[in-house]
Amino acid sequence: MRAMVYRGPYKVRVEERDVPRIEHPNDAIVRVTTAAICGSDLHLYHGMMPDTRVGMTFGHEFVGVVHEVGSSVERLKPGDRVMVPFNVYCGSCWYCARGLYSNCHNVNPNATAVGGIYGYSHTCGGYDGGQAEFVRVPFADVGPSIIPDWMDEEDAVLLTDALATGYFGAQLGDIVEGDTVVVLGAGPVGLFAAKSAWLMGAGRVIVIDHLEYRLEKAREFAHAETVNFAEHDDIVVEMKRTTDHLGADVVIDAVGAEADGNFTQHVTSAKLKLQGGSPIALNWAIDSVRKGGTVSVMGAYGPMFSAVKFGDALNKGLTLRMNQCPVKRQWPRLFEHIRNGYLKPSDIVTHRIPLEHIAEGYHIFSAKLDGCIKPLIVPGTS
Ligand SMILES: [Zn+2]
Ligand SMILES: [Zn+2]
Repeated sequence: MRAMVYRGPYKVRVEERDVPRIEHPNDAIVRVTTAAICGSDLHLYHGMMPDTRVGMTFGHEFVGVVHEVGSSVERLKPGDRVMVPFNVYCGSCWYCARGLYSNCHNVNPNATAVGGIYGYSHTCGGYDGGQAEFVRVPFADVGPSIIPDWMDEEDAVLLTDALATGYFGAQLGDIVEGDTVVVLGAGPVGLFAAKSAWLMGAGRVIVIDHLEYRLEKAREFAHAETVNFAEHDDIVVEMKRTTDHLGADVVIDAVGAEADGNFTQHVTSAKLKLQGGSPIALNWAIDSVRKGGTVSVMGAYGPMFSAVKFGDALNKGLTLRMNQCPVKRQWPRLFEHIRNGYLKPSDIVTHRIPLEHIAEGYHIFSAKLDGCIKPLIVPGTS
């Protein structure tokens, strides 16, 4: 089969690989029909995530058709159209029993923090991902769901991470009716967080980024106010000014470890490899939320970070809430919102790229060329 393969920072290519095999009776093999490149894949592509090994196939956002199932799989059969959450999880451990699927204790021998994630380095379990023609799906009776007939495949693939994560970020904000919600980052997750904030009763939604084409999307798709941080000497001062000098009630960090904007932090963290990226977005969140407010974090961060304004968070009495999204927990409500027309996730898709050209897709997405917001990957075309 053809599969995307990581060859080192900024280098990916498509190679011929063996079709994955059933390794456990509860595995399924899924033939991928649509995958996506995620903003968090760019952290891998840039060599910023620990233990990203050469030879690995990325891709934690994919949908497809069940090709083969192991002997104990009961809920899926070959030919079923399935959507697969980015979390690999067992469904039965202490954490899974409490809905904390992203913290499953049985799927990642490399860490006690994060559970398993498809195609997301050996820090997240070392599972090959779905930017390929086929992918092995462990615990096939647990994670995947059959795509409802009425749902478009491109909406389904966005439910496997981006939309679920954006919605989760808004949920973690504990938004109360009338709240002013600031979203840092106008990428797919930020756009979905902004849109979700309205669904949860926000009174104002402000999206911050420095890419004008993405801010335009935030205005059009998420009906948000927008601020371009590159146009302000100090974005925190600007946020205070626009919120009666109080600060926002809720700030959602949908940027993560690779925020642009602070050269010194970028050098000490990224170049010297002391940590995977810089916490500048997180510090902006801590600074621009009001005292007693909530900071929600779903941007991707590596395990270690220094120079986070933790004392300020303490002294302001902030609530900091964060996790990797437990995707499937969000699906029942999101299915309803899509079916009722409140959300049309595929409206943010800008590129549909054949798997054979995935290297170009990574380059376009990474360099923010051609108005790229969300690139999908389509195997079997070229
Ligand atoms: Zn993703
Ligand atoms: Zn588990």
